[in-house]
Amino acid sequence: MSSPSVYIKTYGCQMNKLDSALVTSALRAAGFGLTDNAKEADVVLINTCSVRDHAEQRVLSHLGHLKHLKKTRPGLMVGVIGCMAQRLGEKLFQHEAVDLVCGPAQIPQIPQLLADALQEKKKTLAIKQKIRQTKKPEDQNLALEQFESAYGIEDRQLPGQAYVRVMHGCNRFCSYCVVPYVRGPEVCRPPAAIIEQIRKLADAGVKQVTLLGQTVNSYKYTAGEKTYCLADLLATASNIAGIEWLKFVTSYPAEEFLDEILQATADSPKVCHYLHMPAQSGSDKILRAMSRHYTAAQYLELLDKARAIVPDIAVAGDFIVGFPGETEEYFQATIDLTRKAKYKNCFIFKYSPRPGTRADKKLQDNIPAEVKKRRNIELLAVQERISDELSRDFLGRQVKVLVEGLSKKAHLNLDQSSSERQLVGRTAEDWIVVFNGPISLAGQFAKVKITKTSPLTLFG
Ligand code: SAM
Ligand code: SF4
Repeated sequence: MSSPSVYIKTYGCQMNKLDSALVTSALRAAGFGLTDNAKEADVVLINTCSVRDHAEQRVLSHLGHLKHLKKTRPGLMVGVIGCMAQRLGEKLFQHEAVDLVCGPAQIPQIPQLLADALQEKKKTLAIKQKIRQTKKPEDQNLALEQFESAYGIEDRQLPGQAYVRVMHGCNRFCSYCVVPYVRGPEVCRPPAAIIEQIRKLADAGVKQVTLLGQTVNSYKYTAGEKTYCLADLLATASNIAGIEWLKFVTSYPAEEFLDEILQATADSPKVCHYLHMPAQSGSDKILRAMSRHYTAAQYLELLDKARAIVPDIAVAGDFIVGFPGETEEYFQATIDLTRKAKYKNCFIFKYSPRPGTRADKKLQDNIPAEVKKRRNIELLAVQERISDELSRDFLGRQVKVLVEGLSKKAHLNLDQSSSERQLVGRTAEDWIVVFNGPISLAGQFAKVKITKTSPLTLFG
């Protein structure tokens, strides 16, 4: 029999994209085939996100579709992996389509679990029973570490780029957030393993590495006498030949190591001038209810400091609107902070109660859906004006971009007989740039002269 082929669908953040790439590598190494076409797959794996209810609903509707597909393809195996698998566990088997449930900490076992499940044709559950075990986190994560380090270049998501996780989990327990419950406590990876991995990726042609952590600036690892922080990783990775751009996301607004990280950003020409540091709200009362341990004024001070050390740093943010108890006055405070922060762009989310979190247990989701929606639209409009103003500065300027590939609208434009296509890339400051060029530029750097701008995109 030919080797079973697997289709992986990924929902959610960069962490999930990286997990899918790791699973792809591991499956290929174990002899599975990988396919981009769900219709010809023997196994469909859905890598899931639990951060908002909407993300889970999308997965459930995908499962509904797979249930129908299984009627015509009874041998098809369906696995739910990642955060939703950890959160819902066995309950997912109530959905007829689901054969395999595997949490984020168990993904190293996926090739074996799949091989067994295919052979024995039985439902398989692999999740962490107690997400906060007392065992030494280093032991718990040995398997994950080995799995992580084996990351193969062929499975990177975008040409010339790779994500490298520097830490697992999160210890912050913001009151609304499910991440610490599904991803477990914070465990930092050894610096030597991270640097070795970046070196391997560089040897294989990767030019940009993005270091990932839920609170990436709190990365800390003690080996012998020395404690390493993210600034050390950035400085060491800057010396690796072939790596030209280093990015890091997401930063938590706290003093911890931020000075050192910003200084490393200013000192190394390879560290990109980009800071993703979510505020979540501009109201001190809401920030307290969210268990975010800073005030709006402290947050803005951190931004001032960042801009003093790295003057042209581009800042991105996240906000949650409609958190329990958010009055119009508190929402106005968020608008004020947004204006003062001068973000390049913002990700704005409507509050979604997550079962098991403190906000869900203790606070009533008392902001009506239409009010959340209105505040979302209002805040987006405020940010759009700021982004528009910032983007206009680029008119007539030449920017360097790392080309990702075809733009989403590539099929709409250009003479099809031409070798030029509409491409998309990003600058070091994470601005999206759309321009015409040959597809052979994917994964390469290009210089683009900006001729038109919109709030989120530069055109050249
Ligand atoms: N660790 C990162 C941080 O603290 O900035 C982000 C992690 S979370 C996956 C990404 C974003 O989702 C958060 O910054 C927050 O704005 C949003 N988010 C998290 N929980 C949410 C919830 N219950 N409802 C709405 N948005 C939420
Ligand atoms: Fe969630 Fe807060 Fe941790 Fe970010 S820092 S992952 S929002 S608990």
